[in-house]
Amino acid sequence: MKIKSIETIQVKEFPLIIWVQINTDNGITGLGETYFAPNAVAEIIHNVLSPLLVNKNPLNIESHWRNMFDMTNAFGYAGAEARAISAIDIALWDISAQFAEQPIYNLLGGKCRDKIMTYNTAGQYGNNTDSIDAILNPVKLANSLMDQGINAMKWAYTDHYADINRGTYISNEDLKLLSEPIRKIRKEIGYNFEIANDGHGRWNLSSAIKIGKFLDDYKMLWQEELIQPVNVENHIKLAEEIEAPVCVSERLITKYQFRDYLKEGAIEIVMPDLIWTGGITETKKISTLAEAEQLPVAPHDMTGPVNIFACAHISMNIPNAFIMETCRAFYEKNGWYNKIVDRNIEVVEGDLLAPKGIGLGTSLKKEILNRDDLIYKKTDTNSDNFHWGGFNSNLFEVVSKNGKKSIKRKL
Ligand SMILES: [Mg+2]
Repeated sequence: MKIKSIETIQVKEFPLIIWVQINTDNGITGLGETYFAPNAVAEIIHNVLSPLLVNKNPLNIESHWRNMFDMTNAFGYAGAEARAISAIDIALWDISAQFAEQPIYNLLGGKCRDKIMTYNTAGQYGNNTDSIDAILNPVKLANSLMDQGINAMKWAYTDHYADINRGTYISNEDLKLLSEPIRKIRKEIGYNFEIANDGHGRWNLSSAIKIGKFLDDYKMLWQEELIQPVNVENHIKLAEEIEAPVCVSERLITKYQFRDYLKEGAIEIVMPDLIWTGGITETKKISTLAEAEQLPVAPHDMTGPVNIFACAHISMNIPNAFIMETCRAFYEKNGWYNKIVDRNIEVVEGDLLAPKGIGLGTSLKKEILNRDDLIYKKTDTNSDNFHWGGFNSNLFEVVSKNGKKSIKRKL
């Protein structure tokens, strides 16, 4: 089996997301996805990475990941490059699993569970008002989630206050104000409903400690990215000062960045974003590093439908999967996932079920390619003479004669 072509698919209605389809010569198509700056991602895929892949065997995923990473890491890999690698990696797993006529989780080593608990990040789409209710009607929101069997939620309770002064200072008055929705849930519902806070890396360390300590009174599920993950030592200080587990999340790209936090004990909840950090291949490895440190993994979401399918396979497979982020505003019947994919995720009584069928378990709706707002590109370039940066090792060959090696210009 060989890779024949690579397609990128964007629609202007959802301007931050991009899908990748990898087509093979035996008719199997693999699907991947990533999110943010999609035009930059498309450029990397078509002009940098596709020459490494076209005409190659799609089953050699480890080799492809390494080749793609080696190609891009001279230029700061943790950007559009890592997102492009992530999207391609998912598509390659989809191909391999379809080829094996198995779901992806069986290629990863099988299932540790049949379903995983979810939490709802309050989002907004169509008539869904979860993100408004998170602040203005928190008890109504919590009750409506519990009615669906969802017993945990996340909201960025502190973002608005960080924007006032770039996260340099939080007053006692603002602490009281920002915690009001949490206080109401605790008063009306109690402690059976879990609440996590995402700081989106907007605070300095002293403010983060003040916020974390204040919210500890409400027994938060975790404190996520109160500070930017640019400094391991500050996370150790934060973890020492606050009671809630410190969650380090989607801003860490690849096992290399997670390793720095894991080995120093600077992370207590491990939250890789699969479509940013390097795909299924890399998320499995990050999860294994976390397992070695006896830490739980809670995959990041709030992006697109393919991410959550890929995360579902990882969550079924890894022993240390804890909880899966989902956004019901996106996946519910009137959400936007149903506009994009043939098969939606299944969340039953708050649990995300193992994907059904072979491969990833979903595919893009065919009609997407007929949309008026489509941005589409396809590459089927032959890769044989590809090299980068003017350094072409194919110009030379090592030859052995009478037990002695020498290097010669290739004829
Ligand atoms: Mg986050």
